[in-house]
Amino acid sequence: MNNPYQKAGATQQPYQQAAQPQQQRPILAIRGVNKVYHQGVREIHVLKGVSADLFKGEAVALVGPSGSGKSSLLHILGLLDKADEGKVYLNGHDCSDFNEGERTKMRRGDIGFVYQFHQLLPEFSALENVVIPQLINGRSRKKAEQRGKVILDFLGLAERMQHRPNAMSGGEQQRVAIARAIANEPALLLADEPTGNLDPATAERVFQQLIGLIRHTGLAAIIATHNFELANRMDRVMQLQDGQLYSYVPQR
Ligand code: ADP
Ligand code: MG
Repeated sequence: MNNPYQKAGATQQPYQQAAQPQQQRPILAIRGVNKVYHQGVREIHVLKGVSADLFKGEAVALVGPSGSGKSSLLHILGLLDKADEGKVYLNGHDCSDFNEGERTKMRRGDIGFVYQFHQLLPEFSALENVVIPQLINGRSRKKAEQRGKVILDFLGLAERMQHRPNAMSGGEQQRVAIARAIANEPALLLADEPTGNLDPATAERVFQQLIGLIRHTGLAAIIATHNFELANRMDRVMQLQDGQLYSYVPQR
């Protein structure tokens, strides 16, 4: 498998000393990723040698029919699951060889994940839900609260910070989940149908805010969505079909 950070004939260099300028190096590089699920005697080959690059500042839609492997791919990229074959490079690190401790550290600091169902901690306020991951990642409470307030404010939740998730609307819960995902300033944001559970008007608002946040922070994002109209407003579309990943720039 080719290392995208290694020029032909060159010896492998550590990330900091890579020959290419920073802007040209993908935040995320996927090479030949294979994933097979075994259900009894049945084999489901969801990803058949998938490769792609994602650059800083890019907001990419991941589309494909239900069951095409969008969640499977996002879980592999988010280091929540492992590929059977292939490589995942994040910020120049080959994550495929990471041990559990290294994977956890990368997941906490460099990757933000938004699920379709918010998965917030029900016993804690919106602010605490954004603060806790920062404390776990080593930030002081004061700094974590400062940052939590800034992000929640940016997402229009200034008045809702002390509310628990079940006292919030679905759109507000998803915005808190987005705030939590970017709390540790990740390089990569992965969102698995983040507006899939919302009514169309709320979905549109949350999507707008998500895109605004991506533009504001300059991080790289992959957002799985069923909504082709939303997908076509993003920089690029990655489409999963029959285990293959196709990439195109939407026509506007
Ligand atoms: P999508 O998110 O595009 O709907 P998924 O990645 O959830 O697709 O699923 C892709 C295929 O893999 C589906 O056929 C699904 O049933 C199967 N699958 C997903 N996760 C598992 C699992 N843990 N065990 C067995 N099969 C799975
Ligand atoms: Mg899914």
